Amino acid sequence: MKSDVTYDLLIIGGGISSCVFASKYLKNNITKKVGLIEIGRGLGGRSSTRISKKYEGWKLNHGSPNFNISNSKNNLLLKRYIDELLENKYIKIDDSEIFFLNEDSNLEIQKISEFSCGVNYLSSDSMSGLSKMIIESNNLKEEIDFFFETLIVDMKFNDKGWLLTSKNGDKFKSKYLICATNLLLHKRSLKILNVNQIPLRKAIPINSDKKIDLILNFLEEQTFIPRLTFLIYTNKNYSYKDNYSKKLRYFYLKNNLEKKYGFERIIFQLQDNNKLGIVVHSKNAELIDSYISAKDEEVFKQKIIKNFNKLFEENSLIHKLTFDEKISIMKWRASQPSGLSVPLSLQFSRKSKIGFCGDWFEGNGFGRIEGSILSALILEKKIKDLIK
Ligand SMILES: Cc1cc2nc3c(=O)[nH]c(=O)nc-3n(C[C@H](O)[C@H](O)[C@H](O)COP(=O)(O)OP(=O)(O)OC[C@H]3O[C@@H](n4cnc5c(N)ncnc54)[C@H](O)[C@@H]3O)c2cc1C
Repeated sequence: MKSDVTYDLLIIGGGISSCVFASKYLKNNITKKVGLIEIGRGLGGRSSTRISKKYEGWKLNHGSPNFNISNSKNNLLLKRYIDELLENKYIKIDDSEIFFLNEDSNLEIQKISEFSCGVNYLSSDSMSGLSKMIIESNNLKEEIDFFFETLIVDMKFNDKGWLLTSKNGDKFKSKYLICATNLLLHKRSLKILNVNQIPLRKAIPINSDKKIDLILNFLEEQTFIPRLTFLIYTNKNYSYKDNYSKKLRYFYLKNNLEKKYGFERIIFQLQDNNKLGIVVHSKNAELIDSYISAKDEEVFKQKIIKNFNKLFEENSLIHKLTFDEKISIMKWRASQPSGLSVPLSLQFSRKSKIGFCGDWFEGNGFGRIEGSILSALILEKKIKDLIK
């Protein structure tokens, strides 16, 4: 047993949905014992920041660089929460320049992408820092035990509650469980966790909880978009051609251009030491395949720089890169859910003492931070009076 404690609540996952949920839960349940288990080294999940050990001083947001709220007008819960984050100065309005590159690589200023419609917000720290600030704001007495670098591979449930087992054999007990990820509910767990049955299915056999059967059925139809992100740690004197000085600058590629270069968007990220980092996102199947099958990663990286230079060849704002820029590549097996979303009515099962949150639930924010935050707020409201 990792500890003798039986937690009132265990949370699996340390992404933004987990942090929003835990923060709100703690605010209303200050006496409860909460544990949070995360396979990564820190908080943030898919909206986190790579603090490079190799290249000192660099902090690049390698998942989601910011977030947008497409619709909070009709949703008071979400609106109030965003206002709270603004008041606490954890976030600010993101008024960075967003360009759309059209077929001729010319610039158009518009805001039509799924990631930029509505109001855009920026973390006042890094994206990992945002998750940290959110959770720490209500963890003042350190009520949460954090278990990082811990991968849950097995779950058991009986009338006393939950027993979780990590890959290293550590055991965790709790009365209630929150899954702020759907890995343990989804068929991709079989390969990733090297198990022969979906862990939640194993814990709750078929026909014993209708809600769990339904949620698993919905997830059968949910797939995930793979992505690559290229993190470019530019050479010493790399800068813009103009005097732009805001923290971020975005370039989105329109369809034909995305097809031609394999890039989806390019985000320039000004660092505290004034260096200019670049994160290139790709969801292009051809480019991802050519990365997987590349015999020599260096040759592949040269191709990325070549494409970048070609794309910005005539651009009045962006300088070309040299071929000795340092690049690291992040492969996201499951960057965003797609296909069927899960109804919010299935978010909590009283019978199985388990709740779920994340970007995989239905609504405007499906597949984005907006959905992660909203589902966490709704879940907290649902269980507030239950877990006493
Ligand atoms: C490259 C990229 C770009 C994106 N761009 C945008 C954008 O511009 N705007 C936007 O709104 N959204 C964007 N997204 C999506 C956004 O990042 C996600 O919607 C959001 O971060 C999801 O948060 P979450 O808390 O729901 O899930 P996650 O961040 O996935 O958190 C779940 C956590 O659970 C952990 N975990 C899973 N299984 C286990 C286990 N068995 N044991 C222990 N830990 C486990 C994971 O490590 C993870 O940290 C992007 C995503 C990617 C990858």
